[in-house]
Formats: sequence, C-alpha cells, structure tokens
Amino acid sequence: MKGYQVLKCDFHMHTVFTDGHVWPNVRVQEAWKEGLDAISFTEHMEYNPHSADVKVDHDRAHDLAVDIAKEKNIVLVKGTEVTRQTPPGHFNALFIDDASTLVEDVDSKLDQEAIDRVFQQKAFIFWNHPGWKATQIPGSYEWIDFVDKMYKEGKLHGIEVVNGLGFHKKALDWALDRDLTIIGNTDVHNLIAHSYDIGREGVHRTMTLVMSKDRTAAGIREALEAGRTVAWSSKYLFGKEENVRDLVEACVAVSPAFHEKTNKANKVTKYYEIKNNSDLYFELELKAGKGTKRIVLYPGSTQIMTAPAGETKLTYEILSTYIRSDKHLQYDIHLK
Ligand code: ZN
Repeated sequence: MKGYQVLKCDFHMHTVFTDGHVWPNVRVQEAWKEGLDAISFTEHMEYNPHSADVKVDHDRAHDLAVDIAKEKNIVLVKGTEVTRQTPPGHFNALFIDDASTLVEDVDSKLDQEAIDRVFQQKAFIFWNHPGWKATQIPGSYEWIDFVDKMYKEGKLHGIEVVNGLGFHKKALDWALDRDLTIIGNTDVHNLIAHSYDIGREGVHRTMTLVMSKDRTAAGIREALEAGRTVAWSSKYLFGKEENVRDLVEACVAVSPAFHEKTNKANKVTKYYEIKNNSDLYFELELKAGKGTKRIVLYPGSTQIMTAPAGETKLTYEILSTYIRSDKHLQYDIHLK
C-alpha cells in the first residue's frame, strides 16, 4: 500500500503466565499458521491467578518465545498490560525493556505511577477496550480525566477500538478527534482456533493492519507512532479515512469496459470487472451515479458491474468500513 508493507499484527494476548490458558510458544505457532507478522505478549501486571502453579515473572512469556519467534519469522514485540481497576481500566505498553520493575499493586493511588513507569521505558501506550465494563459501571465508558491527563502529557498514543469481536464505537471517534492510533486485537486467553473458529473459510482473528516501511519492530513502531493502521475484525475495517481509503485502493481494481450491450431503446450498457485482490471483505452500496447498486466482494474475488455508456464516475459507500462510529468510507470508481 503506497510503498508500505501491510503487516498483520496482534498486540494483545495472554498466556499461562497470567490468566491465559496456553504456553507462550503456542501463541507463536498460532500466529505463524495464520500468517501474522507480529505479536506481543501483554500479560497483566496486576493479576496473576495461576501464581500457585506458575512462578510470577512478567518477562517470562516473552523471553520463552524469543527463539521460536525467530525460527517462525514472527516479529515479537515486548509488551505488558497495565491492569488498573476500571476506571481508568487497562492499558497496553509496547516496546518496553523490562516488565519486572513495573507497578503491581492495584491501589488506585498508584494508577499514575503505573503509567509513568511504562512511559519511562519509552513505551507505546494504548487504552484497551474502553467500553469493557460500560454496562456494569455506569459512566465508566467516557473520556475520563485520568485518560485526558495522559493524553495531554503525551502518554497515550492509541486506543484499542476493537477488542476481540467488540467494537467500541465511541472510542473510534475519540481516537479520530485526537489523532490517536487505531488498534484492534484479540486479547485472546484461550486457543485462537477455539475463540475464532479458525479453519473456516474467511475466518480470521481480530488484528491491527500496520502500514510499515519494513517488517521489523522498529518499522512497526514508526508506523504506530505515525498512526498508519487499520483495525480488522470479522468483515469490518476501522480506521482513519486516509488509511482506509489507501487500503481499499491497494486492494480493489476495476477493469476497462470489456463489453457493450445496446437495448431496443438504443441505450448502451457497459460491463466492467471489479476485482478484490486481498483477504479483506468489501460491501459496496451505490450513493451517486448510475450503475450496479450493490456489490459484495469476497476475499480474492471478482464481480461484474455495469453502468450506462457515458457514466464516468460511480460513488459507493463501503458498508464494511468505519471511518467514524456513524460513517462509512465514500469511494469513487472512475470508469473507462
Ligand atoms: Zn488483556
């Protein structure tokens, strides 16, 4: 896309080293099987339910997976999950040096210190699943003062707008209005294949598509800081308008007219092929111009579309994209 590689990344997952159900190498094998480029173990700093059976060590999941990640050509980003009470909630910190020195006490007086410690390690910090307890804790799903202070101090860099199959709608608008990076992750605790029914055609885990200069941790970091991401969950894409548009343009192509048909009233209809060369799903609905009203483009598929001769531009809304909580991408197709 525009000279960038589109990397498939999952920056939020758990293993037995906190409340996950699998050993770290399983996560790397899953990622390899699904064609991911980068993953991060983000074990809870403040929650260790398996501590009677598994020694508490917040660096251990990452350290155990370093070799197998190299062998499987997966970029492993060192991370952690700062797990405060809700509010303020949970924050992932990526590219940390050492998780063992972070705050582990859930005392709310230490919330600020917990963030400051990961910030001191020059972490890329994002707010996880902001609407997680919205139904249990009224008022918790708001742009709270604690987060506002983080944002103003440059300590908040992104928001996890999609967590698993949950779309945190308001959070998308918060991210867009403040130029924060849009992230989507699994937050998987169980086997990926169990949580997502991997193996069925078209089924994939939730992830962040990162438009990176290269396939390295440094490249990913630069792209995250520049906000070049689109979250992908189920059939849907979520992101800043320019990123979603660039991605669609890289994936969808329309052929020149390959056929013309004249009816009894002497009206000429032209035929085109519209092709989706990606693993993504696009559902288009015509908004302006005369032509095929609705087009569903499954991964790697081609459809026929038609328009009256003389029509040069059709404007579609891509219903499978969100560029705000209430807005889909408007996409122009120029006919030749
Ligand atoms: Zn988590």
